[in-house]
Amino acid sequence: MAETDAEQEARQAKRKRIRRIKLLIFVVPLFSITILLGLCIFLGIRLHMVKKELRDMRAAIEATTVIDQTDSADNTNDADTDTEPALYTVSEVDEFKQTGNAEEAVSEEDSSVRKVYLTFDDGPSSNTNRILDILADYDVKATFFVVGKEEEEYQALYNRIVEEGHTLAMHSYSHKYNEIYQSVESFSTDLSKLQEFLYDTTGVWCRYCRFPGGSSNTVSRVDMHELIDYLEDQDMSYFDWNISSGDAASAYISSADIIRNCTVNLRDYDEAIILMHDASNKNSTVEALPGLIETIQAMEDTKILPITDDTERIHHISND
Ligand SMILES: [Zn+2]
Repeated sequence: MAETDAEQEARQAKRKRIRRIKLLIFVVPLFSITILLGLCIFLGIRLHMVKKELRDMRAAIEATTVIDQTDSADNTNDADTDTEPALYTVSEVDEFKQTGNAEEAVSEEDSSVRKVYLTFDDGPSSNTNRILDILADYDVKATFFVVGKEEEEYQALYNRIVEEGHTLAMHSYSHKYNEIYQSVESFSTDLSKLQEFLYDTTGVWCRYCRFPGGSSNTVSRVDMHELIDYLEDQDMSYFDWNISSGDAASAYISSADIIRNCTVNLRDYDEAIILMHDASNKNSTVEALPGLIETIQAMEDTKILPITDDTERIHHISND
């Protein structure tokens, strides 16, 4: 009998163990899955918040950088402070004067007028004509910091930019950071190639540049001051920006956000250089343009102008 009791106890104990194990087999994975799910949701929300914070911080940094009036804005290496047009058609500087583009600039008596410069990097692109159409509709001149694209389809775009009185300026031929920022030589080779290509294509000898990533970029292997020296030696100027549209900050930004980014701090500046992009995937930039131009034009004592020698050099970094 004693044996039977013992056996019974053993059986019960075994059953209990089995129940416990079954319970564990069911509960542990369920618990783990719940925890993992919760973690995923939490991380997802956190990631979203961090991204938003990052965007806000970037916008704030860009805005603050601009306030540094010593250098004005970011990466655009613009020309001098004279009244000359931004571009030189080797023999036809006068033509610009009669077309009233670039040198329509602003005379000294207009010093109380806020000057806003719309600038487009990275073109030409499949969106260039749309941008030019809108600028023409509003009779507004802008500045295009272009790259080198030799395909037939782009030739007309470089020329249209010039013919319609906008400032043609240089960004870089290849826009490949690992090539252009390898050395002063690689930078100068790239820029000369672009300068000559633009001259052959349009007859304009460009002197205004914007460093890819701006003069404050952190990817260059060369000290940016050396590249700035090089530009000065070549009688070229660079222009950064003090307002960023934010159209390069993320894969998609709404046109409403672009307009807001461009205008929210605009009143803080006497001269504002706005960074935008002319690229095939930047449709919202194009869509933002009419509203942006109308908003700026509705501001008192404010003019939209192309970059010229009169434009304040907005620099993120300079050798001054
Ligand atoms: Zn660029």
